[in-house]
Amino acid sequence: MSAKNPAPAKLRVATVSLAGCFGCHMSFLDIDERLFDLIEHITFDRSPLTDIKTVGPCDIGLIEGGLCNAENVEVLRAFRANCRVLVAVGACAITGGLPAWRNHLDVGDILRKVYGTVPDDPELPLPLNRVHPVHEVVRIDHSLPGCPPPADAFWQLLQDLMAGRDPVLNKGLIRYD
Ligand code: SF4
Repeated sequence: MSAKNPAPAKLRVATVSLAGCFGCHMSFLDIDERLFDLIEHITFDRSPLTDIKTVGPCDIGLIEGGLCNAENVEVLRAFRANCRVLVAVGACAITGGLPAWRNHLDVGDILRKVYGTVPDDPELPLPLNRVHPVHEVVRIDHSLPGCPPPADAFWQLLQDLMAGRDPVLNKGLIRYD
């Protein structure tokens, strides 16, 4: 590429797993060799893929998982403040998913049952009474449904966003499991 035609700036992408199982991240990695293509056009900010711990100004934020504790809420708000486009990825982010199955139980009872006591170490994030989907706390621009969304859905979403289009997933890529 000559100095007259500098390469277009790469989009900056951050990803995080809140109350999730990392299965959505694993599905993202299933785009396999297309990652080499992707890395020509994007660079990763905070993500389990980079181990960067604090989100900076980004073009796209991918949120896996809902909100089960105060730290999740803080991280989600930091993503909203820094990411131009925020995407709820997977059933847990969109509806609360499996972790929200605890919503009909008392959180204190659950902690006592599991740990024999309510853990009170100040280092631990404060559990929320209910698990919330991310849209209940911040504005979300797009959703990628599925548990997890298929790798091709991540690919299509990123292709559309990189091209400046609203993402459109064809029928085969929309999952409700
Ligand atoms: Fe895991 Fe499914 Fe939740 Fe993704 S949506 S974090 S794969 S349980």
